[in-house]
Amino acid sequence: MIPKRRFDAVIVGGGGAGLRAALQLAEANLKVALISKVFPTRSHTVSAQGGITAALANVSDDNWHWHMYDTVKGSDYLGDQDAIEFMCRNASSAVYELEHMGLPFSRLDNGKIYQRPFGGQSQNYGGAQAIRTCAAADRTGHALLHTLYQRNIAARTQFFDEFFALDLIRDADGYVLGVTAMEIESGEPWVFEARTTLLATGGACRIFRHSTNAHINTGDGLGMVLRAGLPLEDMEFWQFHPTGIPEVGSLITEGVRGEGGFLVNKLGEKFMANYAPNAKDLASRDVVSRAIAQEIRAGRGCGVHGDYVDLKIEHLGTEKIKARLPGIRELSMQFAGADPITDPIPVTPTAHYMMGGIPSNLHGQVVSPAHYGPEEAVPGLYAAGECACVSVHGANRLGGNSLLDLVVFGRAAGMHMIEHLRENPIPRPLPQAEVEKSMARVARWDRKGGTETVAGLRGEMQRVMQDHCGVYRSEELLLAGLEKLTRVAARLPDAAIRDHSKHFNTARLEALELENLLPIARATLVSALARTESRGAHSREDHPQRDDRQWLRHSLYYCQNDQLDYKPVKLKPLTVESFQPKERTY
Ligand SMILES: Cc1cc2nc3c(=O)[nH]c(=O)nc-3n(C[C@H](O)[C@H](O)[C@H](O)COP(=O)(O)OP(=O)(O)OC[C@H]3O[C@@H](n4cnc5c(N)ncnc54)[C@H](O)[C@@H]3O)c2cc1C
Repeated sequence: MIPKRRFDAVIVGGGGAGLRAALQLAEANLKVALISKVFPTRSHTVSAQGGITAALANVSDDNWHWHMYDTVKGSDYLGDQDAIEFMCRNASSAVYELEHMGLPFSRLDNGKIYQRPFGGQSQNYGGAQAIRTCAAADRTGHALLHTLYQRNIAARTQFFDEFFALDLIRDADGYVLGVTAMEIESGEPWVFEARTTLLATGGACRIFRHSTNAHINTGDGLGMVLRAGLPLEDMEFWQFHPTGIPEVGSLITEGVRGEGGFLVNKLGEKFMANYAPNAKDLASRDVVSRAIAQEIRAGRGCGVHGDYVDLKIEHLGTEKIKARLPGIRELSMQFAGADPITDPIPVTPTAHYMMGGIPSNLHGQVVSPAHYGPEEAVPGLYAAGECACVSVHGANRLGGNSLLDLVVFGRAAGMHMIEHLRENPIPRPLPQAEVEKSMARVARWDRKGGTETVAGLRGEMQRVMQDHCGVYRSEELLLAGLEKLTRVAARLPDAAIRDHSKHFNTARLEALELENLLPIARATLVSALARTESRGAHSREDHPQRDDRQWLRHSLYYCQNDQLDYKPVKLKPLTVESFQPKERTY
């Protein structure tokens, strides 16, 4: 008999998004289960460095309208302007709320929250650089995660740490009624039944070989959604952060350039002025990543292989580096062997963030046009954080906007879930067949023998994605990638877990994660192949222009037959004038 627990809400994911949503529900005295495959404060939010963006105007003149403009422009006009307005309007109150919860922000001399400039931030709709990102040194995510975790403990959220969510449980009417899960230590299956389910499983950059993301970022929520017959949105848009440490992937925050750091090629040239004459090193991330890629291609990369550029910050001085960028110094010394007080940091574009994800609206409801008519919500199912596509980041996310997205939409989702619970007080019967289907999927990994290994197939998938779907793409490259990926995926049934002894559950976990990663990689290639334009982080060398006439729309990918569908971008904000698409320069 599978253990079954019933809650009002089950939250899958204990990062910033999951914790913020859980807090809203727990403080309303609802019974909340939070499932996390790692201890919540080890969630990837912990590694967010640079900060959280809100137009507090503590350092430069600022207001949320300018933040909204920058976000729309940064998204290359693919972001939904209703959601972007909602996020930017609510940013200041979200940051003050965190401050009041006890988040230890760095301070200005006058005691106000410290803010630093980030890429793509401007005053007065494209004017001078704005200084908008609120920071706790270079450990903002760490501070945010611990603050929210402590508040959840106080609010009596029930934590199920080191539980791995497997599948959504949906009934014949399409209601989501909870999830199946596995307790990692024992391998025991569990059923978490709830009238509302929120997916907050974070990003999926582990489809790539070189990534700033932790190994746990395997897009499990996205896999669950695809298996439930629902689509994923805008999967062609992955952000390559300009400044990852080569090979290792560790991130050197944009906050470093915000504090005054700059990039140079092997000739010592500050090359960003050639690509973004105004914003230079603080241009949007897609722009800076392409600039680095071009310098490397032109033979101006640094090092023996010429495959990186240098990020210089010595001129900031020892005191400032130690006070504002202590974690970065540590990372650089440990992983690049360079103390930035005296040496440049080697950097290269590295897979960092997923702009696409589970289609959701600004209440956190998962929406599915093709199955439910125009933008109808999937009853009982919510998504927030990096796994969700609201879409506030469109084709390219601005730095500091993800932590903001987590808390604004985590809270909004929590509030809407409370409403849903009020309107749906009676639990619906649980479809046992769905539970059994999920368990049968897991049981397949008990097989022995096998000619393939999970690690081997995962490595091949990551190489395919790195080589065929990176900063620059083309039809030829993507088609070849898709063919290779198809061959890799076809070998999955021949894979088995070698070690059925003491490491068996972790091995089984990696197998289940691969079952999530492979369709996400496929969604990415298929969506990227179809989009014959260049927009934001999606750069097609064979289609170098943005094409608003044909492509000002969101992609929706269904795994059945690789079906693609499209929906329009919401150009109409909630209360203000639209920002009409125009050429994007920095
Ligand atoms: C190095 C780095 C630095 C960054 N710096 C910044 C920054 O300065 N500012 C900014 O705005 N953004 C930054 N970002 C982006 C931002 O940190 C992330 O987008 C964000 O933290 C994601 O939060 P989340 O709550 O969606 O997911 P996460 O924090 O990744 O949490 C995901 C949760 O889901 C759980 N989970 C996943 N799958 C399962 C499963 N199958 N079963 C159970 N639990 C599961 C995990 O255990 C985890 O608790 C940075 C990203 C990186 C990689």
